[in-house]
Amino acid sequence: MVVIGEHRHTQVKVDLQAIKNNIKAEMDRKDPLTELWAVVKANGYGHGIIQVAQAAKQAGATGFCVAILDEALALRAAGITEPILVLGITEPEYAPLIAEKDISVAVGTQDWLDTATTILAANDVTTPLHVHLALDTGMGRIGFQTPTELAAAVTTLNQTNTPFDFEGIFTHFATADQADDTYFTHQLNNWKTLIAAVDELPRYVHVSNSATSLWHQACNGNVVRFGVALYGLNPSGQELSAPYDLQPALSLTAQLSFVKKLAKGKSISYGATYTAAEDEWIGTVPIGYADGYERRLQGFHVLVDGQVCEIVGRVCMDQMMVRLPHEVPVGTQVTLVGTDGDQTITLQDIADYCGTIHYEIACGLAPRLPRVYVD
Ligand SMILES: *Cc1c(COP(=O)(O)O)cnc(C)c1O
Repeated sequence: MVVIGEHRHTQVKVDLQAIKNNIKAEMDRKDPLTELWAVVKANGYGHGIIQVAQAAKQAGATGFCVAILDEALALRAAGITEPILVLGITEPEYAPLIAEKDISVAVGTQDWLDTATTILAANDVTTPLHVHLALDTGMGRIGFQTPTELAAAVTTLNQTNTPFDFEGIFTHFATADQADDTYFTHQLNNWKTLIAAVDELPRYVHVSNSATSLWHQACNGNVVRFGVALYGLNPSGQELSAPYDLQPALSLTAQLSFVKKLAKGKSISYGATYTAAEDEWIGTVPIGYADGYERRLQGFHVLVDGQVCEIVGRVCMDQMMVRLPHEVPVGTQVTLVGTDGDQTITLQDIADYCGTIHYEIACGLAPRLPRVYVD
């Protein structure tokens, strides 16, 4: 099979030791009876789902969370045998496959349970399908909103001859990464009201993403769904500081593919939006918005030879230009995320420039950027 990006010096480097260190820091801080499930959706937030899952497991993760069924199947195919929870809604037509592969799914309606019951029976499935009931306490995304609906679903799950294993119950906070905890408290109260409708709680009761565990540790149930922080990224951006050092695992580097002197008055890239103010050394970097390096990054910078170099002219689909302090050879390393000398560029810096969050930049890094692992 041809691996697109294999013959390419523009690379995402992932430090698996940093991932393990972040997980160990969280393992040391949380209640020892609380499990850590590593959230590896969206190709491990761009870092590589399988490699991250294996590193997380080595560091002590005892389960995994993903967004869609295919991500769970990829983990099973790679030999992961721990519990895997699909956090989004999976279409009930896949119920037999979910049961067969021993995967757990989030369920937010009675209708889902009824449809899946019919499909499982029609396919003579006898292995129980693991269900985590999703409660909507204020995220407004998926889940049961009222104690009555929830109690009915629990009754269905607890029936004799049920095709389900009532394995978990959970919610998700919308503002756990903010200093103001008014809305968080409102959601927490809703959670308490809802779970009071469940006579016997299932094995896994969980509410915490990274932010909740970092800043509201007291409400962790017996599982933490540890996501962005395991990659060394602060879920709050700059707003709150983490209780331990987070080590960013990802760096992004390229090599200059072309270097030239551009005469004063000549312009660069689409729209000719940049014109050289004097004779300038210009380098071409073989990365562009098709790689997830956003077009809005014109005017931002990269590092070459430990020096900050401005991105001049529009970022193209596959290439962009930077202004160099002096002539440097073709093949010189360009750091787009990471450290060179005493300068560092973080995913947070890029996100700030783009007016978004580091999550979006990390998981936007395209598959054609090869991932290289160091441990
Ligand atoms: C993505 C996700 C997480 C992980 O969130 P982080 O902020 O990355 O820790 C946890 N729970 C749910 C339901 C999610 O969708």
